[in-house]
Amino acid sequence: MFRSVILAAAGSSQVERLVQSVPLSRNLVSRFVAGTSGDDALRVARELVGDGLAVTLDYLGEDTTTAADAEATRDEYLSLLDGLAGDELTPAAEVSVKLSALGQAFDEKLAEEHARAICAKASESGTTVTFDMEDHSTTDSTLEILGRLRADFPTAGVALQAYLRRTEADCRELATHGSRIRLCKGAYSEPESVAYQTRLDVDKSYVRCMNILMSGDGYPMIATHDPRMIAIAEDRAKWFDHGCDDFEFQMLYGVRPEEQLRLAEDGYTVRVYVPYGTQWYGYLMRRLAERPANLAFFARALASR
Ligand code: FAD
Repeated sequence: MFRSVILAAAGSSQVERLVQSVPLSRNLVSRFVAGTSGDDALRVARELVGDGLAVTLDYLGEDTTTAADAEATRDEYLSLLDGLAGDELTPAAEVSVKLSALGQAFDEKLAEEHARAICAKASESGTTVTFDMEDHSTTDSTLEILGRLRADFPTAGVALQAYLRRTEADCRELATHGSRIRLCKGAYSEPESVAYQTRLDVDKSYVRCMNILMSGDGYPMIATHDPRMIAIAEDRAKWFDHGCDDFEFQMLYGVRPEEQLRLAEDGYTVRVYVPYGTQWYGYLMRRLAERPANLAFFARALASR
């Protein structure tokens, strides 16, 4: 109930205007977001990489409605990747991209062209691209675009969401040599017809999907903060004889930072998803929906103004 209310607010432009009109505490946004510019993102990336972590940088923005905005998003990624070229950050730093920010909703071909340009630049810069997964109406289109891009850029990766009923089948299809799959639980509000609704069902699906990915030939990216899922992944890694270079953990910037360091100290690759930019509203609302304690933090920040 709590989750659906917050996620409904995440899609409301009226609530967005209201929240953005409140001069939010810098601490609140900066807990989850690296800053507004590419330089901020690179500064945070350097700190994290200095601590033994890897990063994936995400330029915030989604559901772009104009070609000009889609082009601006592409250009931001191209310039970010230029910044990464030849930098000591590569290959520890890669980028995460939302196809909806590149125009997927109004012109799939355009989004694919922009995504292709980003993959080409990433490849020149010696790093990789992972495509985020958005709401279920975009899954087919995202996987089709990924399939075409992978023909030229085999390291292009994608997120799959364990809450979707289809994901076990998608994992089976994609757990092939060289394929980079980020398994997450899923962050959107989805109907029962396509998605498991209870935490238990989502967790059970997560474990089934993880079993498929960890026993397959691809490179699993286990994106979760859930201690039970992390312990199961460590167990499966031993079971399937995966070394620390055969899979990685991923977590969000600002969430369980001590656990990120603990896993890295244990020798695992841990990649931190680092968002930056001014379009933080939808991203922040999804983080609030995941954890009531985050809402208390949000409320305290508002009250302290
Ligand atoms: P949850 O079920 O939210 O939490 C389980 C347990 O984890 C909690 O009970 C608690 O013990 C622990 N925990 C969680 N948060 C905290 C915290 N702040 N502090 C302390 N303990 C905590 N979703 C998408 O839909 N598409 C994507 O492309 C996508 N990409 C992602 C990339 C990365 C790297 C990550 C980490 C997540 C991504 N997500 C994405 C979000 C994801 O789908 C989940 O919404 C989010 O990760 C929360 O799920 P969880 O697995 O952490 O477990």
